[in-house]
Amino acid sequence: MPTGRGKSLCYQIPALAMRGCGVVISPLIALMQDQVDALRVVDVNASFLNSTLSAAETRQTETDLLNNNLDLLYIAPERLKTDRTMELLQKAEISLFAIDEAHCVSQWGHDFRSDYLRLSVLNDLFPNTPRIALTATADERTRIEIAKCLTLENATHFVTGFDRPNIRYRITLKNSPRNQLLKFLKEEHPYDAGIVYCLSRKKTEETASWLSAEGFNALPYHAGLPTATRSNNQAAFLREEGIIVVATIAFGMGIDKPDVRFVAHLDIPKTVESYYQETGRAGRDGEAANAWMVYGLQDVIKLRQMMQTSEGSEQYKRAEQYRLNSMLGLCEITSCRRQSLLNYFGEELDEPCGNCDTCLEPVITWDGTEAAQKALSAAYRTGQRFGANHLIDVLEGNSTAKVNQFGHDKLPTFGIGTELNGNGWRSVFRQLVARGYLTVDVEGYGALLLDEQARPLLRGEQKIELRKDTHKASKSKQVRQKPLADNINPELFEALRARRTKLATQQGVPPYVIFHDKTLLEIAEYMPQDMAQFSQINGVGDSKLEKYGEEFLTVVQDAS
Ligand code: ZN
Repeated sequence: MPTGRGKSLCYQIPALAMRGCGVVISPLIALMQDQVDALRVVDVNASFLNSTLSAAETRQTETDLLNNNLDLLYIAPERLKTDRTMELLQKAEISLFAIDEAHCVSQWGHDFRSDYLRLSVLNDLFPNTPRIALTATADERTRIEIAKCLTLENATHFVTGFDRPNIRYRITLKNSPRNQLLKFLKEEHPYDAGIVYCLSRKKTEETASWLSAEGFNALPYHAGLPTATRSNNQAAFLREEGIIVVATIAFGMGIDKPDVRFVAHLDIPKTVESYYQETGRAGRDGEAANAWMVYGLQDVIKLRQMMQTSEGSEQYKRAEQYRLNSMLGLCEITSCRRQSLLNYFGEELDEPCGNCDTCLEPVITWDGTEAAQKALSAAYRTGQRFGANHLIDVLEGNSTAKVNQFGHDKLPTFGIGTELNGNGWRSVFRQLVARGYLTVDVEGYGALLLDEQARPLLRGEQKIELRKDTHKASKSKQVRQKPLADNINPELFEALRARRTKLATQQGVPPYVIFHDKTLLEIAEYMPQDMAQFSQINGVGDSKLEKYGEEFLTVVQDAS
């Protein structure tokens, strides 16, 4: 089940309804405190056991468990396998075991934890206690592996779709990435929390300080930063409002923040799986969120090059090539991106989604056969030893020093491409590389080589449709996601957020534990006047009504 669909409820409700304590095994130690806090706010008796607790706190939790005073207990897998914990659990009344992030048992996955392999012991020691395994990221092969490793072969599988309809996918041509990002943030997410992904550590730090200079609250995150800096930045992201984290792919596992409003990619991920997982960190609360990416010719060339120099068996390389082609295909597609994305995971969406850039602003295609032939022949006639920029000079008839040095001004291709400008040709080359007509020379500094499949195109036996790139900012208003709906007073919303931050700070919990954005939006929209009206708002249960009702009603009254 994708994140944000209520996976935790699948074990929390049974644990509350059954006698005894539900034991949740989770590798995300950093999250346990927040998960437990969120449950305690709604009066669930929850606790956790992990290495961050003192001896006294540990003993207290153990006593609570044995006295049947706990509804839910979170335990890290490395803790669970100790004899002390096993003995404790055998003395207690356990309603169920929930194994969260169950894909960690899969040796093919990137999150593999050896401690998870030991969890099959639960079946031997607690044969009559129900067990449930949960994951957000498992394809079919991983699901089968999970069932096998956890001895859950006879268990029923419940699989919901991969679709995250509230996420709006947009992939734009990169021309001036910083300006593009700035415009996107200023127009659509001036105060929101979000993640900006970059490929290199250096770039995350540079981008974060640049964004800070532009007035945003941006922090870097990558595996090379000191541990303290990393955990401070992560904590700020979780607990403060409107923080932007600029990160490498190292950031993400263990981030369970529901109100991430955007994920922006300044560099293209290597696989559709990564793209889906990274963009999936946006909008877990189900509210509108943006997955925004810019990419260009240099990214395509860099990725192709990286793949060709990668180590591994032929079979591995073929799989890698397939994955990269799928990612590039998703970028270049002229039909609905969501349909293509879901299709990659073996799912079908009958209609175009209406919530991606290609749906909102259909791509114009053109017959690029002649341009492609010219581009391919420029690569061929110059000996397949040059990169796109030089080939564009040849096509445009620019007598640069390099063109003259190699005598390329004497070639029949010299100056035959005046119908397109530099950007136009870059677009043609990008699409030819992305679609595999041109490959990138591993040692040749981005030299473009003709692939076998270019032959019929060059001979005129095949036609090619290319997408027409738009370089101007989108004129269609629809594509842009407005920060707030028209019927919401932005000042009231800000005041509600400020009150939430105050309460969260007082209680030492992340703001969303008090109320999700969705709830604040509803309060701002309906402006409840008394406790009865307030109780009708989504996300306001009895205990939150009692704890926070008056506080927020005051804010509404002050604004009216
Ligand atoms: Zn679509």
